[in-house]
Amino acid sequence: MFDKILIANRGEIALRVVRACREMGIKSVAVHSTADSDAMHVRMADEAVCIGPPSSAQSYLSFAAIISACEITGAQAIHPGYGFLSENAAFVQALEDHGISFIGPTAEHIRIMGDKITAKETAEKLGIPVVPGSDGGVKDIADAKRVGKEIGYPVIIKATAGGGGRGMKVARNEAEMETAFSTARSEGKAAFGNDEVYIEKYLTTPRHIEIQVFGDGKGNAVHLGERDCSLQRRHQKVFEEAPGPCITEEERQKIGKICADAVAKINYIGAGTVEFLYENGEFYFIEMNTRLQVEHPVTEGVFGQDLVREQIRVAAGLPMSFTQDDLVLSGHAIEVRINAERLPNFSPCPGKITQYHAPGGLGVRMDSALYDGYSIPPYYDSLIGKLIVHGRDRPEALARLKRALGELIVDGIDSTIPLFHALLEEEAVQTGEYNIHWLEHWLEQNLSA
Ligand code: ADP
Repeated sequence: MFDKILIANRGEIALRVVRACREMGIKSVAVHSTADSDAMHVRMADEAVCIGPPSSAQSYLSFAAIISACEITGAQAIHPGYGFLSENAAFVQALEDHGISFIGPTAEHIRIMGDKITAKETAEKLGIPVVPGSDGGVKDIADAKRVGKEIGYPVIIKATAGGGGRGMKVARNEAEMETAFSTARSEGKAAFGNDEVYIEKYLTTPRHIEIQVFGDGKGNAVHLGERDCSLQRRHQKVFEEAPGPCITEEERQKIGKICADAVAKINYIGAGTVEFLYENGEFYFIEMNTRLQVEHPVTEGVFGQDLVREQIRVAAGLPMSFTQDDLVLSGHAIEVRINAERLPNFSPCPGKITQYHAPGGLGVRMDSALYDGYSIPPYYDSLIGKLIVHGRDRPEALARLKRALGELIVDGIDSTIPLFHALLEEEAVQTGEYNIHWLEHWLEQNLSA
């Protein structure tokens, strides 16, 4: 086992990893930019190294700064969290060259699931059902129109290198194709430096269902059921739950096995998520994330497993501590993402926290790096906390979420807390009968400026 792990991240996820390390008796090293000197992850880790100025490119994304920090502190492994360098194959390769372990999959796994076209091809080869669409990249508008005719409108044009909901445009008919095609291309170019796009059938009322998988790197893999992340704003998740309100045990075992078998075939190591759109009882692969997800705590809640601990174990060469038969789903868990954002536009709202109080009690988990007097810097993601509840069933989890939200105090800034108070009053949220468009419609009707 490792003696010391460096965490190449910040905020709540850095704390999450510090906690797992401490329980395992492993020393942790925090890294931080000059804007994060007062951050909670810096205080909680055993050691901390300043790795550069506020800009992520010069700090949290700098291979040289992070590898030097490992060498100075003697850390043997790096946990990347999510975002930043967590899905950067070149970084994983660089660590390998320096004899540092990466707590995550291999550079090759990241590559084959990296850009969306390659990921789709890989998934298809591994027996995972995919969304009908173009055969790889689409070169020009004539080609795009041909594909549109072939698969039928509406279609979605996606930047091959896209992520975080950016670089996607819907065309409802051939007339809309021209603008949608060129916008998706230019967004891809601007945000990801790559203007290649591909086309998919646009599913009109799907749910977003994702399967948590876990591999030991030696050909063994399991699944930990699904998460329903259909409540999204601009293709970004805001509310996640496990199990999915509309997924039967039979469907769970069937799609779970397909995913576990697929990743076992490639000797996948560590945590991964296979994302699907789900409509009329069918699953359609959209992408695979080769890392820990923001919403992993809902899965931990219903399976009673520590996924970060497990990631560290397999990275150190140990076997997984559970088999498929050990994984028994129990109760229901929900996570809401608390962002430092001002409603109704969700504009980023960094600033000083004048009062912070985290909720508690049975079945309540608050993953956050906030504290009284902390100043949220303006340079990074606006996620400031995740409130996760677990109950014996969905109604109990909803009641607990409402109770816990009532106890949560985040003063000094605006946040998405009022959004969740309002959503919990909605019948569709109470019954679980929503799809990926429900929240956008609701926001238009209830929150438009
Ligand atoms: P990103 O990597 O940017 O998150 P994804 O491919 O995972 O992009 O898609 C994000 C979201 O976009 C999905 O959860 C869904 O809401 C929507 N989406 C993606 N593909 C389709 C599709 N073919 N039809 C309908 N909605 C889609």
